[in-house]
Amino acid sequence: MGFGSTSRRQALQQLASLGALGALGVLRSERSGAATGAIPGFGGTVTRRQDAGYEGLRQSLVWHRSKPARYPDLIAQVRSEDEVATVLRYAAANRLKVAVRSGGHNPTGPSLRDGGICLDLSALAGIEVDRERAIARVQTGVRAIQLVARLAQDGLTFPTAHCPSVGMGGFLLGGGIGWNHGYRGGMATFGIEAADLVLADGRRVTASATEHPDLLWAVRGGGPGLFAAVTRFHLAAYPLPTAIRVSSYILPLDKLATMTATLDALAPAADPKLETLALLMHDPAAPPGTPPGQSKICFLTAFAFGYSEAESRAMLAPLAQSALAREATVKEENRAFTLFELFPKFFSTAQPGGYMGRYAAESAITDEPGRILHALADHFRKAPSPICHVIASHRMNLRAREDACFSSIARSYVGCFAIWDDERTDENNFRWLEKATTFMDPYAKGHYINEVEARRHPERIRQCYSPAAWQRLQALRRQYDPQAVFHSWLGQEAQAGGAGDLQP
Ligand SMILES: Cc1cc2nc3c(=O)[nH]c(=O)nc-3n(C[C@H](O)[C@H](O)[C@H](O)COP(=O)(O)OP(=O)(O)OC[C@H]3O[C@@H](n4cnc5c(N)ncnc54)[C@H](O)[C@@H]3O)c2cc1C
Repeated sequence: MGFGSTSRRQALQQLASLGALGALGVLRSERSGAATGAIPGFGGTVTRRQDAGYEGLRQSLVWHRSKPARYPDLIAQVRSEDEVATVLRYAAANRLKVAVRSGGHNPTGPSLRDGGICLDLSALAGIEVDRERAIARVQTGVRAIQLVARLAQDGLTFPTAHCPSVGMGGFLLGGGIGWNHGYRGGMATFGIEAADLVLADGRRVTASATEHPDLLWAVRGGGPGLFAAVTRFHLAAYPLPTAIRVSSYILPLDKLATMTATLDALAPAADPKLETLALLMHDPAAPPGTPPGQSKICFLTAFAFGYSEAESRAMLAPLAQSALAREATVKEENRAFTLFELFPKFFSTAQPGGYMGRYAAESAITDEPGRILHALADHFRKAPSPICHVIASHRMNLRAREDACFSSIARSYVGCFAIWDDERTDENNFRWLEKATTFMDPYAKGHYINEVEARRHPERIRQCYSPAAWQRLQALRRQYDPQAVFHSWLGQEAQAGGAGDLQP
């Protein structure tokens, strides 16, 4: 399927900006006077803590502006999968700990740890597509929009993150709530057919249903604490939806009950290809100075990922006939989009005022998303920044799977995001987010590991897994990484009495 001229222009702009980010990283490395020979036999770039340019490079590894106060001794930027093995053998031989980075979007910045090596895999960005088998072999540094663009050339797609620049590595390992997520079992990680990994001793293995199935189990949800470096994912793609239609409705926050009742009525029966995204957000049209209590809105967007216009319109019809449509102050129905065009659409609505700020997130996997939204509503009115927002996906359709350690299982997801600009308000924003969890947790069956505030609350990591999955992950860590070369989840080592990596 071809892209229209507008979307092609947008696509080129977005891809160009990703290229610029990559170039910036390389430039910084070159300027740094990076140490050649610091890791014998390694042809990539190594930047030591004492090198000029280290700090610029370190900060560029975390996408948002809340840069962690954690300082690796070496930053190793690899260019090939072989080089990953070289770095790991060196780390094991020299008793250095390793933290892995792909796209750098994790809010808690877990790839930056004190001491040891930050292994930056972001330059591993190759994609190979087996069109006949609908399998995409995707290196870990590929960004969401790059995968969508490449697969579209073969009439295929995969549920990538909604944000174009999120790395496939961290997204897939943590679970991955992607476009059209309900259609493919709720989490993108379930679409990993196999993964190529480098283990702590430098061995390269492939994990699949028949080879190292225990490793594949851990890859599907192990998140930012995996005990191996994944270099490549083998992903099950599916036919690109060709007739995407989108309806959006805006209501004042006072009418939240109308939105949640409509979603609850829709949830059980609707086609799994209908994705709904309910937002509580600041009204970007509110005049400056409007009291916070009067400037918040509910914004529901429904995406129908159909293969014909009739199919997509039928998915959206119940919304058009609902009280939500009757009471909406603004609405737009059945608008045609390509998948590519949805990336800017999502960001123009979800995060007004720009999405690059200081950043913290919390989440609930829940069967009661409506109750969480109501419990949060008053607290949300007091959000310390106008960019803070709440997102709910009512229809994740998650099912427990024995072949995946991802084990927060329920019907829906709710995420709460504190995003702000002024460093002096850090504490206010963190406290606001912490208080939000007191409204979310009573209805949560678990949390989403890619969106828990592990910097201040490492105990929430364990709550992302069933007790059995947590225990099995610890056992596999001991088996595959007996020397503890890889860092564990943020804060877990400190809790276990090991090298502390918790920062204030
Ligand atoms: C603006 C924004 C939008 C987002 N949108 C979505 C969304 O729509 N859906 C969703 O589900 N999530 C979303 N996220 C969350 C995102 O999925 C996670 O933050 C994810 O961890 C980012 O992956 P990354 O590779 O970019 O990050 P990184 O920070 O590079 O990776 C996070 C951690 O994962 C581990 N890791 C990464 N790659 C590897 C590897 N190859 N081998 C071993 N370990 C590895 C490491 O521990 C690493 O520190 C969003 C985040 C942001 C900031």
